[in-house]
Amino acid sequence: MSDALMHTYQRLPVTFAQGEGAWLTDTDGRRYLDALGGIAVCGLGHAHPAVTAAVREQAGRLVHVSNLYGIAEQEQLGERLCQLSGMDRVFFGNSGAEANEAAIKLARLYAHGRGIDKPAIVVMENSFHGRTLATLSATGNRKVQAGFEPLVQGFVRVPFNDLDALRAVADNRSDVVAVLVEPIQGEGGIRIPHPGYLEGIREICDQQGWLMMLDEIQTGMGRTGRYFAFQHGDAVPDVMTLAKALGNGLPIGACLARGAAADLFAPGNHGSTFGGNPLACRAGLAVCETLESDGLCERAAQLGERLLARLRNGLEGLEGVTEIRGRGLMIGIELDRPCAELVTTALEAGLLINVTADQVVRLLPPLVLSDQEADELADRLNGLIQAFLARD
Ligand SMILES: *Cc1c(COP(=O)(O)O)cnc(C)c1O
Repeated sequence: MSDALMHTYQRLPVTFAQGEGAWLTDTDGRRYLDALGGIAVCGLGHAHPAVTAAVREQAGRLVHVSNLYGIAEQEQLGERLCQLSGMDRVFFGNSGAEANEAAIKLARLYAHGRGIDKPAIVVMENSFHGRTLATLSATGNRKVQAGFEPLVQGFVRVPFNDLDALRAVADNRSDVVAVLVEPIQGEGGIRIPHPGYLEGIREICDQQGWLMMLDEIQTGMGRTGRYFAFQHGDAVPDVMTLAKALGNGLPIGACLARGAAADLFAPGNHGSTFGGNPLACRAGLAVCETLESDGLCERAAQLGERLLARLRNGLEGLEGVTEIRGRGLMIGIELDRPCAELVTTALEAGLLINVTADQVVRLLPPLVLSDQEADELADRLNGLIQAFLARD
């Protein structure tokens, strides 16, 4: 591969030329079943006809103007997202990190409005929020931060899925103004908190006057079986961030807010040249329409059950398999040993998967899988993991 690119990624030795649904074809014409979807981005699969048609039409008409002017597609997508989530207002950027930057800035404005000069935001161990300076500082992974010190100040870290730790912060500190948390930790290893966790955070936030801010960048847009993961329970956040699947591959991120948090930004406080441009928003609209018209949230829930059952059938009880867990099409298979090399053996076998947190096989397949494709995915992966464990 070319040496012209900075070495930010350890790339696998494959280049794709084309995609359709859950399948990718490489430059040599080999086909791969894609169980990663560009890391939860291509929720509707590759080259979805509705997104392709919308983007083609929009690209031929108007790609960009500027946020100095009205943008019809941005207004439509904003309204649609507010309807789906119960939020009041949206700010559009171009990525997950930018969406979280907007959330962090909202929390700081909120603090200053309350007379807190040096506010803190509670964040979790093993979290991931992005690679910009503020979001890597919020991230609970030293590998993401190392080399980039000094970090941005104003974050307090507690263990994930631990309400007592959050209560202790509430009891001991008066500078906290918000909690930022993933409803299911993605990069951290598909960690699903206990039932009632988000409701517990909501209750503490209400008692303390903190903003509850959910990073739904990986979990959002139908992935877990609801439009947003918080909709599995009763707790509604004050701020929610989206990106990944929002544009099915077109770069777009969004920070949504409700109540007081929705009124914080005033002209001049925040902005983005590209954010919310007609092309990206048109893709987002096509994604929302297709999720709805094709019932893809329910489909993700069904497919998730089907995949989990088949994976458990093939792997549960095997020496070396610690846990198989998931919600909708966000699935993790935790082994008792590092298994990064499974990514390469799977690639050679024509299957695209990912390993995160060293020993968790992560699946984020498109929501448009057929039952047959889901079964094929599970059977192939079961074989690969069985062979990997037998060999070690
Ligand atoms: C991917 C991800 C981000 C960062 O998104 P980028 O678009 O890469 O900046 C932030 N939070 C979560 C939970 C993510 O999964």
